[in-house]
Amino acid sequence: MTTASNIQHHQVDAVIIGGGGAGLRAALQLAESGAEVAVLSKVFPTRSHTVAAQGGIAAALGNVSDDKWLWHMYDTIKGSDYLGDQDAIEFMCRNAAKAIIELEHFGMPFDRLENGRIFQRPFGGMTRNFGESPISRTCAVADRTGHAMLHTLYQRNVKANTQFLIEWFALDLIRDVDGDVLGVIALEIETGDIHVIHAKATMLATGGGGRIFQASTNAYINTGDGLGMAARAGLPLQDMEFWQFHPTGVLNAGVLITEGVRGEGGYLVNSEGERFMERYAPSAKDLASRDVVSRAMATEIKEGRGVGKHKDAVYLKLDHLGEELISKRLPGIREIAKTFAGVDPINAPIPVVPTVHYMMGGIPTNLDGQVVVHDGQSERVVNGLYAVGECACVSVHGANRLGSNSLLDLVVFGKAAGDKMAADIASSQAHKPLPANVADATLARVNRLENASQGEKAADVGFNMRQTMQKHCGVFRFPDLLESGVAAIQQVATQAAQMRISDKSKVFNTARVEALEVDNLMQVAMATMQSAHARQESRGAHAREDFAERDDQHWLSHSLYFAQEQKLLYKPVRLQPLTVEPFELKKRVY
Ligand SMILES: Cc1cc2nc3c(=O)[nH]c(=O)nc-3n(C[C@H](O)[C@H](O)[C@H](O)COP(=O)(O)OP(=O)(O)OC[C@H]3O[C@@H](n4cnc5c(N)ncnc54)[C@H](O)[C@@H]3O)c2cc1C
Repeated sequence: MTTASNIQHHQVDAVIIGGGGAGLRAALQLAESGAEVAVLSKVFPTRSHTVAAQGGIAAALGNVSDDKWLWHMYDTIKGSDYLGDQDAIEFMCRNAAKAIIELEHFGMPFDRLENGRIFQRPFGGMTRNFGESPISRTCAVADRTGHAMLHTLYQRNVKANTQFLIEWFALDLIRDVDGDVLGVIALEIETGDIHVIHAKATMLATGGGGRIFQASTNAYINTGDGLGMAARAGLPLQDMEFWQFHPTGVLNAGVLITEGVRGEGGYLVNSEGERFMERYAPSAKDLASRDVVSRAMATEIKEGRGVGKHKDAVYLKLDHLGEELISKRLPGIREIAKTFAGVDPINAPIPVVPTVHYMMGGIPTNLDGQVVVHDGQSERVVNGLYAVGECACVSVHGANRLGSNSLLDLVVFGKAAGDKMAADIASSQAHKPLPANVADATLARVNRLENASQGEKAADVGFNMRQTMQKHCGVFRFPDLLESGVAAIQQVATQAAQMRISDKSKVFNTARVEALEVDNLMQVAMATMQSAHARQESRGAHAREDFAERDDQHWLSHSLYFAQEQKLLYKPVRLQPLTVEPFELKKRVY
């Protein structure tokens, strides 16, 4: 059993929890500013989920045809179904081109056009001249863009002397009586030792939590740990009802087939061989935004036009693109299709289904990455705490993210937050003293697991949670299922509170880590179900059967779920300050 006396203490300027694209971009900014920065990651940094990103990263470079950041801004606002904050979206789209050129100068090996400029491909919802026609805006490294980006950022960090604490599992934030955040408590997985890392600035960059669902394109490590830590520290989670289902996950495997396939000219067909997206989105067709395409697929399947043995998928057809293009631009997905669907896409279509992919909600922040708490009236900053990437909600993706905007979000806001942290560190004096009982609550949680001789197995609790979420909170949301879902997930939470592990060893005990991850997933699942149940409208990825329309009069607002009080508050969507005119609300058609 760990006691307060055998905890090890460390002090740094900044600690960043997460070594994905967001954490590494922020760390680089800090390390290059001369700050002492430690990146803590539960896996080796280059194994973070960013490595799996395929299709690309958006920026209005205009390398293929004319482009403007303002068009990108419009597309992102429309894609978000007007829930995105327009000031944050302006900031991201304005800074996109600079961020890409910076990555290029860091050595990221982008694919090239004949004239030597960075290659760009079309992606869903990305258009020319405010929706007129599709545009090639997504910069790519074949279909392995995240891999190239993450390795580039890792190498730059090594060069800049960032310290890495690898295979350390962050357990809880440290907050003092003023509510300021003073660092993090972590478990060193290799030894089982517990550490306190005392820092002037702490960042959560822990990525998504897509593992609350059964069918997910997310890595097993995407367990929403940062959200769990924030919720336990009394902080709200924003817009958790909005989960993106990616249209093309491989049937039964969940592995992603990038939207880049449709960008390169692939399309979806039903059992009658019909290119059905022409009916649902006459103009953008297969390149409509992801929520629209996922709902169309679910409808085709529900109405009996699915393919395969159980008629529970549709086909993604790309054989007409030819072997040369597939091998050059989509080599990774050819491999995936062969391995997970048993088909070679050069001559046969891939069976695909909408699969959970991305969490639009997260920990609320401002444009500098500072975590903010809104009490229903006004907003204040949580001193010392920052969040960036998929775990954060700034919010640029609103109710539905456009493909290739997440990698961009990581680097633009990673840099901005890194700058803000460096400035805050430079202007602060000594470290604020730690509270006396700094690790008590965390030790109680860890030691309860250690001591429990009976109770629920973590694997069973995780299974029940995933089944409950999949059944009650899917692509379409039904009132009776949401109602019973709230009670069902509450029941799983009660089981989770009684988890036990049978392996009590200290060294590399993955059973302990798994149980701690389930704790965090439960926070994400609870927030999702409660927020979805409460929102009585359809917007972006949140599609309710009983409230089929968007309702701007009552619901043009962000939800904030406070776990400890189990309460929901709302704050208005920000339409300014902007340097351009705000975009007016319109009905969203593709
Ligand atoms: C298959 C797939 C393909 C995608 N393709 C694209 C694409 O082409 N374009 C695009 O824009 N977006 C894409 N996305 C989305 C995008 O890749 C992710 O949103 C983004 O990479 C998340 O980056 P991140 O830095 O926030 O988190 P991650 O890359 O997930 O990193 C999280 C980090 O946090 C660490 N961590 C988590 N919990 C703890 C803990 N308790 N203790 C210590 N460390 C912890 C992990 O070790 C990891 O280092 C894709 C996503 C998936 C799943």
